[in-house]
Amino acid sequence: MGVETAKSDAINLDKLINELIERVAGEVGVLLYSLQLDGEFTDDQLALELGIEINEIRRALFAMYEVGIAEYRRKRDDETGWMEYYWKINYQKVKEVLKKELEKTKSKLKEKLEAESSNIYYICPNICIKVPYDDAMDLNFTCPKCGSTLIYLDCSKAVEKTLEEIKKIEKLISELS
Ligand SMILES: [Zn+2]
Repeated sequence: MGVETAKSDAINLDKLINELIERVAGEVGVLLYSLQLDGEFTDDQLALELGIEINEIRRALFAMYEVGIAEYRRKRDDETGWMEYYWKINYQKVKEVLKKELEKTKSKLKEKLEAESSNIYYICPNICIKVPYDDAMDLNFTCPKCGSTLIYLDCSKAVEKTLEEIKKIEKLISELS
């Protein structure tokens, strides 16, 4: 059973990492990451080998750099005088980056939860407007656009869903620790 669990966790983590990289750096980023590049490489060398536009490769690498998954150093080429970028992918930092991203998502969900549970909303049955209680009262519970009577929006389902998402994220974060 221990082996089974370890295996499914590993698959889960790979999937999460792929999702993170795709969100940050697109499909090219996922491809670059999957190459398991050892040590330094230049972007033009990669573009040549993969047959992908150098700008696309650079865009993906800089996006990965922004979140800490890739790093680079610049060096002037003695022959051409051009600046060369020597890139490296920080495979060992990916878990940390993923954790940080999950923490960000978690705090966004918590804000959402707060808004959902502290505000009572009223909506127009024709979906013209959604307003907090105070505004609904000012409007005399009547839609200013179509004149329908505003109805109470039950947020308990949404709150429940957000809570579930938070729990899921918390579990992932604890698995990464
Ligand atoms: Zn309306």
